[in-house]
Amino acid sequence: MHKIRVALIGAAGRMGQAIINAAETEGIAVVTKIDLSDKIAFADADVAIDFSHADAATSICAVATKSKTPLVIGTTGHSAKQRDDIVAASKQIPVVLASNFSVGVNALFALTENAAKILGEDFDLEIVEAHHRMKKDAPSGTAKTLVEILQRARQTKILRHGREGIVGERGKSEIGIHSVRGGDVVGDHTVIFAGQGERLELTHRASSRETFARGAIRAARWVIGKSPGLYDMRDVLGL
Ligand code: NAD
Repeated sequence: MHKIRVALIGAAGRMGQAIINAAETEGIAVVTKIDLSDKIAFADADVAIDFSHADAATSICAVATKSKTPLVIGTTGHSAKQRDDIVAASKQIPVVLASNFSVGVNALFALTENAAKILGEDFDLEIVEAHHRMKKDAPSGTAKTLVEILQRARQTKILRHGREGIVGERGKSEIGIHSVRGGDVVGDHTVIFAGQGERLELTHRASSRETFARGAIRAARWVIGKSPGLYDMRDVLGL
């Protein structure tokens, strides 16, 4: 297997370490390790993988477009402006942006879309996600992707982040979203479809960061040589 040369942003973090640990068995060489206070530069790399912080996105995009380095972005919590910078970069270089690199969660995305279509408007939609106590952004990027899928399926924009006090009855077309934080939870996501007399719950639980690392490396291998554009994990998996 040809070893691809990777620049890794967020190298000292949990996901950075998971990528470094997976490198040998996945046939990649992490040639540049970048973390806070390091200069962002991708000189010798075939591809850059980012699992750092949303605030790094603008610099990463500027450097990658200059050096024409394909990007794999796993970082979540981007602002609208940071997202615009990623979209602008994708006009010049290929970019895979995915809120979740696990195959299981991408199956959850497909199942959620299908269930929403089958069950229709009589089922109330709620999303519950849980992550470790160190996670910076909420709701998780994966939960936001689930929201986008449900909003498309149900033609609604109404979101309710948690509930407190006399909030009144639940709106028929609202989507509830709830973030649990604690301990070392790697990442749980449940989509609840609650109807009259029955409830369907779709749950994915990640028990190891290895699954995200292997997915990101797969995306890195895939994105090299692609035309400029914004891709996601469905493109990588050929779904
Ligand atoms: P972490 O806090 O353990 O690691 C982040 C690392 O990035 C830290 O070492 C930090 O010092 C570094 N960093 C912060 N700002 C930086 C900057 N401006 N430049 C360079 N380095 C910087 O977090 P983590 O658990 O590894 O997660 C990192 C990101 O990846 C988060 O946004 C998280 O939500 C996301 N994530 C995505 C997936 C996925 O499948 N897409 C999976 C897990 C985590």
